Amino acid sequence: MSEFEGGCRCGKVRFKAAGDPKFVANCHCEDCRRSTGGAFSTWIGFETGQVSWPNPPDLHESSPATARGFCAVCGTPVSFSSEKWAGETHFLIGTFDNPDQFTPTGDAFAAEKLPWVTLIEER
Ligand SMILES: [Zn+2]
Ligand SMILES: [Zn+2]
Repeated sequence: MSEFEGGCRCGKVRFKAAGDPKFVANCHCEDCRRSTGGAFSTWIGFETGQVSWPNPPDLHESSPATARGFCAVCGTPVSFSSEKWAGETHFLIGTFDNPDQFTPTGDAFAAEKLPWVTLIEER
């Protein structure tokens, strides 16, 4: 079975995910853009039951019933969970120890993308 590990820049926050992800997708929403500082965000989604936190993150409620996990020491945004995707935990690709093992296969909130970004389906 696949096992993935990751964490923040300084190592205060660490997570593990066992089994295969539900999805790997680029999100172009403004909320992710603001929360990460990136043009878009590549998220790896797991069932929350697959996830464990040896060192859990601090949480910011970015909108109602939506929690973004981050490191309060180094500032790295790490995770996302929301009632909209109940039972799932999503991680930003750059927080994994081996981010090269994931390739995004779709786009979310494509209508909010920056003009120069090419969607996966347009490649
Ligand atoms: Zn940190
Ligand atoms: Zn988003």
